[in-house]
Formats: sequence, structure tokens, C-alpha cells
Amino acid sequence: MPSIIEKDALIIGGGIAGLWMLNRLRTQGYDVLLLEKNKLGSGQTIASQGMIHGGIKYALSGNLNTASEAIADMPEQWENCLAGTGDIDLSDTNILSKHYYMWPQNSLRSRFNAFLGSKALRGKVTKVGENNYPDFFQTHIKGPLYELKDIVLDVPSLLNSLSKKHQSNIKLFNCAKEWNIEKNAEGEFKSLTLKQDDETFIVRAKQIIISSGEGSKDFLKKLIPDEKLPNEMQMQLRPLQMTIVKHKHSDPIHVHCVADQLTATPEVTITSHKCKDGDTAWYLGGELAESGANRTEEEQIKVAKNKIGELFPWCDLSNARWHSFFINRAEALTKNGKRPETASIHQYLNISLCWPSKLTLAPDLGQQIINIFQGKNIPPSNYTNSDLDNLKFPGIATPPWDSMP
Ligand SMILES: Cc1cc2nc3c(=O)[nH]c(=O)nc-3n(C[C@H](O)[C@H](O)[C@H](O)COP(=O)(O)OP(=O)(O)OC[C@H]3O[C@@H](n4cnc5c(N)ncnc54)[C@H](O)[C@@H]3O)c2cc1C
Repeated sequence: MPSIIEKDALIIGGGIAGLWMLNRLRTQGYDVLLLEKNKLGSGQTIASQGMIHGGIKYALSGNLNTASEAIADMPEQWENCLAGTGDIDLSDTNILSKHYYMWPQNSLRSRFNAFLGSKALRGKVTKVGENNYPDFFQTHIKGPLYELKDIVLDVPSLLNSLSKKHQSNIKLFNCAKEWNIEKNAEGEFKSLTLKQDDETFIVRAKQIIISSGEGSKDFLKKLIPDEKLPNEMQMQLRPLQMTIVKHKHSDPIHVHCVADQLTATPEVTITSHKCKDGDTAWYLGGELAESGANRTEEEQIKVAKNKIGELFPWCDLSNARWHSFFINRAEALTKNGKRPETASIHQYLNISLCWPSKLTLAPDLGQQIINIFQGKNIPPSNYTNSDLDNLKFPGIATPPWDSMP
């Protein structure tokens, strides 16, 4: 006999989106099950740089546009969560840096510096006095150097904070393998049948929430016939090639290195991470990663070595280990293929397709899902289900600098 499990919501995918929504819905009393096919965060989330930004990066294109406005409230919401006073308790998440720096290297070309010092950004960007430069930059750069209010988080510890109180609601299961979906006559999601070893579970849920990143497309295919799939439920992929430099220098750097042009993408965006073996990893994103999508791994490492050598000539990296890998950003389709500016949830009957667009925008996504449940008048149920004890908790993904060859 199959076990029948009744839930208010079934979430597919345990990256930042799925985990944030699980927390918000559980706090409102909803009975929720999250299924993850791999380890938590395995897709984009564990590969992210962990920056919670307030939009200044996007203001670099010259004006404070929709992207920077949508994101402006986010750092405060995260800070409340990190202090244990927000919608979700993240008080045990490690903060890698409370500031992010912006270093326009060509300080003589002042268009950029004038913008960073402009009235529009007052209070959001501070020029750092030379005596207060972070250790890594001390005496080495002429400046100027700017401090942004952005923070950098340790993503594995964030995933741990988001999952540890809900382990019995988070289960390892590959929804693309042994499973079957049942819909009602109107096409609404009714149940998902899972087979594991000799057991069969039928999970019924009022709402199914798809937060499977790049995997969403395959899952959606099983739920909505191609001809009925609304345009706004299409996905776009933006490929990146990220680079890791592993070495023994211990001074951390968290910096956008920006060239002379005002664009939303810094030349190189660097975050620093402590590796399990005690080494430091610099994780390199920004334009280097975007243009790197068109290079081979060898070419990317060559370009990265040249760029880092040019930026930090005083830093000896002769014993460093270099590694790069490809990863896609999976997002809602935009008209021009550019980055979406907001988090979004697309509804089709009782199916929600969720795109945070950025780690930073997870609180916005969390509020949107609560609004949907309240808007549909879905009351929290008092189900007394077995919690799928035979399915395991997936565990947390390993960050790329601890899994590099
Ligand atoms: C290299 C990189 C750096 C980034 N840096 C930043 C940053 O510094 N700051 C920022 O704000 N944003 C950043 N982002 C963006 C941010 O990481 C993403 O927007 C966000 O992590 C997406 O989260 P998600 O939960 O939607 O998807 P994902 O993290 O991709 O999670 C999807 C999950 O679904 C699971 N899954 C897939 N298919 C199935 C299935 N069939 N059944 C069950 N589970 C399934 C996957 O295993 C995965 O765990 C970065 C992105 C990348 C790629």
C-alpha cells in the first residue's frame, strides 16, 4: 500500500529560493515538503559569491534604475535576519565581510570617481581614507577606494541555517527518475508519486512550487503541456566561467575592480573564502566570468592570471593553484536576454515557478510566495502525516574551492 502524504505545498529544489520559501511558509504554519535531487544548494547557490548587494553595482551604468531600486531594501532585510530579528533567523550564518569595496583602478580618469562621489549615491558609498585601507591594499594602491554597504556571506553556513530546523521537511529525491504526476481535469497539480526502494509515497499538495533552477524546465514539461506553457514561464540561461585562485595569503579581499567605463559589470569581482585545508581561495566573477563563457578553461586561466597580475603586482602567486569551471545562471526569460531586474513568481493554476534572479532577492521572493498563499486564501492545515522517514536529508553542497581537482 502506498503511503499518502498530504501537504499544503510541495517545493521542488533546495537552492536559496526553495529553502527561503520553505522557511517563510513554515513560519506561517503551512505544512511543506521540499524535495531536492542532490545536495542543498548544488546548483547556482553554492557557486554564488555570497554577495548581498544594495544595487550600487547596477547603478554603475549611470543611473539608479529599476534593478538598483528593487534591490535597495534587501541588505536591511538580510541584516535583520542575520541579527535574528527578521523574517528568518540567520543569526548563525557566517558573515565573511561586512563591507564590499570598489576600486576604480584608473583614478586619473575621473568620470567614474565623480559618479561614485555624486549626490545620488551619498550615504550608500563612502570613500575610504588611505589609513583605513584593508590590509591587502595598504601602501600598495594609490586609490581612491570606495566602501559599499554590501555584505558577503559564507553560503554553506547560510544553507545550514536555512535547513537545520526543517530537516524532516527536506528530503533527498530525484524527481526526474522514479516519479509520476497526477493532475485533475482542469490541469491542476494533484499529486506526485515517488518510489524509493520498495516503498511508494503519494504526495498530495494544494500548491506545487518549482524552484529547481536550470532543472525547472524539465520538471515544468511534466506539469504543463508545451502548447499551454505561458511565455512568461520560459527560462533563459546566462553562461559564466568562474575562476578560483587558491593560495596561502591570508588577508581577505572583497572587491569590485572596475575599469574606466560605467557599466553594471565590474571587470573582476573578487570574494575570499577559507578552504577546508586552511588555504585561501579568491573567487573571480564579473566581466572576467561573463566573457570567460566563450573561452576554453586553459584560455580562461591565462586571461585570469594576466588580469590578477596586472591588478596586484605586489602579490606573489607563483605557488597558487588555478582552476575554472562553467556554470549557467538560470532565470526568467527577458525580452532582450539581459539579467532580470527583480525576483519573480509565475503562476499557472496551482503551479508556481520561482526565480530569485539573485541570492540577494530571496527575501523578496519569500514575501511573494506568502502573498500568493494569502491571496488564494489557502489556510494552513493541521495535517498529521508521516514525514517520509525513509527518505534522507540531502546534506549541504560543497563549495567549488573545496571540491576543485
Ligand atoms: C557563479 C555565480 C555567482 C553568483 N553570485 C551571486 C552573488 O554574489 N550575489 C547574488 O545575489 N546572486 C548571485 N548569483 C545568483 C544566485 O546565485 C542565483 O540567483 C540563485 O542562487 C538561484 O537560486 P535557485 O534556488 O533559484 O537555484 P539553484 O541554486 O540553482 O537551486 C536549484 C536546486 O534545484 C535542484 N533541482 C534541480 N532539478 C531538480 C529536480 N528535478 N528535483 C529536485 N531537485 C532539483 C538542484 O539540485 C538545486 O539544488 C550568482 C550566480 C552564479 C551562477
